[in-house]
Order: sequence, then C-alpha cells, then structure tokens
Amino acid sequence: MKYELVLVRFGEIVIKGRNRNRFETMLLTQIRTALKSFEKLEFVRSYARVYIRLNGESYERVAERLKDIFGIMSFSPVIGSELELEAIREHSLQLIRRLSARPRTFKVSVNRGWKSYPHSSPEMNHLVGSHVLRNTPDLKVDVHHPDVELKIDIQKELAYIYCEVVKGAGGFPLGMNGKAMLLLSGGIDSPVAGWMAMRKGLKVEAVHFHSYPYTSEQAKDKVVALAKRLAYYGGKIRLHLVPFTELQTKLAQSGHDNLIITLMRRSMLRIAEKLAEQNGALAIVTGDSLGQVASQTLGSMNVIGRSAALPLLRPLVMMDKQDIIGYAERIGTYETSILPYEDCCTLFVPKSPAINPNLKIVERAEAMMGGELERLIDEAVRGTEVVVLKDGPSGDDASERPEDAWF
Ligand code: ATP
Ligand code: MG
Repeated sequence: MKYELVLVRFGEIVIKGRNRNRFETMLLTQIRTALKSFEKLEFVRSYARVYIRLNGESYERVAERLKDIFGIMSFSPVIGSELELEAIREHSLQLIRRLSARPRTFKVSVNRGWKSYPHSSPEMNHLVGSHVLRNTPDLKVDVHHPDVELKIDIQKELAYIYCEVVKGAGGFPLGMNGKAMLLLSGGIDSPVAGWMAMRKGLKVEAVHFHSYPYTSEQAKDKVVALAKRLAYYGGKIRLHLVPFTELQTKLAQSGHDNLIITLMRRSMLRIAEKLAEQNGALAIVTGDSLGQVASQTLGSMNVIGRSAALPLLRPLVMMDKQDIIGYAERIGTYETSILPYEDCCTLFVPKSPAINPNLKIVERAEAMMGGELERLIDEAVRGTEVVVLKDGPSGDDASERPEDAWF
C-alpha cells in the first residue's frame, strides 16, 4: 500500500509544555479551516507535526495554500509506505524517478523512530541506496553534497519517504499572541505591517480613518480590498471605519499649520486605543518606517507615540522602502496599494510639516481645545462602523449594523 501525504512541520519549537499543546491544537484548527475546500483531506496529528492524507486531492494546490499559513515551519510531499523492505525500496525508487529536476547525486538518510525495526539505519541506507543505484544508471552517491537527500523515517505504522522540503511562512498560529488594532491606510506600508503582525501570532482588527465626503467612495473600496486580502491570511478581518472629518477640521483650525499631522496622528492613536479597549486588543500596529516622511522621524514618533499608553508596534520601522515593496508584492497587496486615492491625511497637508515637533507646544495646542477634543474623539469612536471582511467574493461580507451605510 502507498499513501500520498503531506508532512507539515510546526515552527518555533522552543515552546514547551502545555503551551506547545495549545499551539499545536490552534495551528491544526487553522490548517483545517484554510484547507476546508479540499474535502477529501484527512489529518493525522503527531508530535510537532501533522500528516495530511491527500486521498486524491492535488498536492500542488494544497501546497499553494499551506505556504501562507502562519506557524508552519516547512512541509514535504511524502510517500507513506508499508514497512516491508521491498515496499520501501520500490517507493524510494519511484520518488527519485518522479523528481522534476533530475538529480545527478543522492544519499539516503534513514531515521528509525521505531527501534524494533529488523534492519539498523546504516543497513537500511545501504539496502535502499543500492536498489536505487541499480535502477537509475546515471545517478551516483555523494554523502557530502548530494543533489537530493532521500529521507526515510521509519515509524511503527508506516515508513515516511520524502526528499523535498518546502519553506513555510513561519511565525505563530494566528491569535496565539493575542490581539492588536492595525492602523490601515490605503498605502503600501500598513498592509505589510498587518501581515507581519499576523505572522507573529497577533489577531488583528483594522482601523481606518476616513474624511467622507472629502475622501471618496473609491478610497474606502481600496481599504476594503486591502482588508479582504489580509483576511486571506487572517481568516476574517473586522474593519473599523472611523469618521474623522469633524475632528480633522477642528485640528486644522488650531492655528498650528505645521503641527496638523502630529495632532491628527495623536488623535488617531487615542481613538485606536479606545477601540482597542472595547475589543480586547493590547497593542496598536502601524506601518511607520523611520525617516520615510515628516511624521516618521524619531522626533515625530516620540511626540505622537506619547498620546497612547498601549504598546505601539511598528514592524517596518527599520526597513527600506524597497524591501517593504517586495513584501507587499509577495503578499498580494501592492497592486491595490498603488491605485491612486486620497487619504484623509493628504487633505490638509501643510507646506512644511514639523519634522521635530515640540511636545510642549503640541500639548498646549490640545489643551487650548479644552473638552472639545475629548468630545470629538468620543464622537468619532461612537460613529465608528464595523465591517466584517472575509477572503473571497464581496457577497460574503457583512456589516455588523446592516441598517447603516458604511459612510
Ligand atoms: P502607508 O503606506 O501605510 O499609508 P505611509 O508611508 O503613507 O504609510 P503615513 O501616511 O505617514 O505613511 O502613515 C503612517 C501610518 O499611519 C500608516 O502606516 C498607518 O498605519 C497609519 N495611517 C495613516 N493614515 C491612516 C488612515 N487614514 N487610517 C488608518 N491609519 C492610517
Ligand atoms: Mg499613507
């Protein structure tokens, strides 16, 4: 008998004890959910790994999906062979023969998880290696730098034979490390920051500030499209759409032209923090990258960051734009991010935004607004609408308050 399997290896193996069990259970559930359209698959859990029995489903299509699941370190297409020597030899030969890139050299590495197997590992290396050599005239053994390493893992139930190891997305299962609010604009950076946060095991809820009617319906559609792409990785994304027009207009009237962006960002963080509290999130994630624009200098980050008590996570802070673009392309957000749109922050862009805002002056400007600032912030939080986005066609999405228009 021969089984076509995929061996999936879990990541971050330093985790031990009860947490490991929790980690593995979460990950297995997420793998099952991501692969639920492949109805014939069966899952067999084993320590720090899971075997997926393909039962006729396409390995290539399953592999495409597996590559994007966080917490998976690597996976391999595997033949599950019965334990008779002849079966192992024959399946090993078949596996080598069907490799698309024809190897010139190989070696066999046998691991005996089941110690009572009648042949020792060195014996098995020889018994299988000689059979492969006899039947593939061009192939040679190279124990130091082989083109292909044929691995045979002998367990009590089956021998698992494979030679390909595909790198997974890494990180932690989604939600394993809690929840964060992602400040999602329509730009290139924040979707990448969101993907990185999710890869680190954070469930994210997205927050977008809009200045309707000054920002358009298209600007909203763009953010929805980005959030939907993140939902491909994150299962389901709740997108909070925050009305920012009134607050923004008031801040623009504060008489500190060069501080508008600083003031706006501080208010955004305060609103995000309130939404975090309402939704059980313990951090705020942004797409800030050091030095990219005036609001992302160290001086600005300092003054802006002080308005929030929650940890501010900036996964891109030390990255170059080109590298960020590379990620955006890889995760499938770039094409959407570069569509033209107006952001609420581009509406009131001052001629010379402060690159080193003075905290005292900023605090004084806010104090001058008295209770009005707090009132406008609370109003924005109250007026926030939530859309739940899923990967796939838009028909699947739902507004949590269907009677409300989004804007
Ligand atoms: P991005 O490409 O993510 O828009 P950016 O380089 O354009 O980033 P900014 O516009 O200065 O930089 O924004 C910095 C960060 O502030 C963004 O990455 C995002 O996290 C947050 N942000 C900016 N505008 C908005 C918005 N309208 N709604 C939600 N978050 C926003
Ligand atoms: Mg932007």
